[in-house]
Amino acid sequence: MRPLIATCLILLYPLFATAGDVFTATFSDNLDQVHARLCFDGQAPTHLYRHKDADRFSSGIYHSGTKLKITGNGSSLRLPGLADNACISWQTNLKAALKKKNYRLILQTGDDLVMSTALWFWKGPKNRDLVVDIVLPEDMSISTPWIAIDKSHGKTRYRPDRTPAIWDSRVAVGHFEVDTIKLPGAQVRLAAIGSLSNQQREKIRLWIEETVTTVSSVNGRFPQPQPQVLVVPIGTRREAVVRAHVIRGGGLAAEFFVDENRPLKEFTSDWTATHEFSHMLVPYISSSDRWLSEGLASYYQNVLRARNGRLSETQAWQKLYEGFMRGENGTHRGSLAQATKKGRRSTMRVYWSGAALMLLADIQLRKTSGGLKSLDTALQALTTCCMKNGKTWRAWDMFVQLDQLTDTAVFTALYKKHVHAEGFPDMRSTWENLGVDTRHNRVSLSDQAPMASVRSAIMKG
Ligand SMILES: [Zn+2]
Repeated sequence: MRPLIATCLILLYPLFATAGDVFTATFSDNLDQVHARLCFDGQAPTHLYRHKDADRFSSGIYHSGTKLKITGNGSSLRLPGLADNACISWQTNLKAALKKKNYRLILQTGDDLVMSTALWFWKGPKNRDLVVDIVLPEDMSISTPWIAIDKSHGKTRYRPDRTPAIWDSRVAVGHFEVDTIKLPGAQVRLAAIGSLSNQQREKIRLWIEETVTTVSSVNGRFPQPQPQVLVVPIGTRREAVVRAHVIRGGGLAAEFFVDENRPLKEFTSDWTATHEFSHMLVPYISSSDRWLSEGLASYYQNVLRARNGRLSETQAWQKLYEGFMRGENGTHRGSLAQATKKGRRSTMRVYWSGAALMLLADIQLRKTSGGLKSLDTALQALTTCCMKNGKTWRAWDMFVQLDQLTDTAVFTALYKKHVHAEGFPDMRSTWENLGVDTRHNRVSLSDQAPMASVRSAIMKG
């Protein structure tokens, strides 16, 4: 009986399923304009959310041919009362937005555009079900963080992750291919946009492929199923990777602004991509606890580069040591929790205190389990329970979760000892036990130390 009931439910499901709100974006042939239409499923929400500057490039919102009186400003709009299942529409002038020369809003590279979706994708709150239909000019492609669920009649339908309305996402539109990098448990959707030669495209692919493969080694699989990776060439700069960040609105994404002319070895020896993809090992952590997410990424940016041979074991410990020194030098009065709220002034302390806590957790897990547990296995366990995009975690809750998953009290004990304490974690006895000699600020390794095997296991994976 059971299989029959299950089959009937599956067959009947589409009849009862409602799509939720339907947002349609139609790009004009020359990419000057986006026509947006939002049809609500049932009652309209009271508010719409968008980019705070979006109003300057928009026609205003229309309903049945009449311009609506909208109150509110900036990123939050108050809608007037509308009948159930109403549709509203507006037009966004991308050409006018480009004149602002704000790369965070919209940027042109070659004939392609990359932009914040909040420029034209105005939406209700997180709790509303929503699909997005995209209609592109012929022969053009789009890179989005959303997962495609259907393609027909010249439009592609996506279902974005349910994330807070203020979490942004980025899309690129133009003449480029979205390349798929297949990894165990994941497909990385890479779009290198702009006027790139085949060689430059190949170089970018090799760099991203090597990095995501390395990050996959933590769990044995990449921690996110279909991340969007956007690589935006911006011409001659002093370094290969100029700027990068992870974005989580509607789906997981990483965006890189690069000097496409730099050689492959500069890309692969740069730490930035390893750092950014390491952020994807954990769900979103509140920015007031960013010592945890930045600490984790700063720790793994060195550990993982040692594991894939980009750094020797000594070089990786040297980089961690130097990071901790920068953190210590950047530590002034107040606790780590207080410093994290101070913004850029305490960046070094926040990043490297967090990295020190990750190292301490990794050592204790390995030591107390005879090498069976580690920070890697803790994060591996996390992927089975806690990676749903859209939730914001506090560091304490994440540490409680990691303790549960590892059946230890390692994480919460470190939190209690360090997060509300003054000063940078004292690492002297740790260095000694690991056999990391830091005399004259030059790291050398000794295999005679009590935890030398833990030390080399960390960098070998
Ligand atoms: Zn970071």
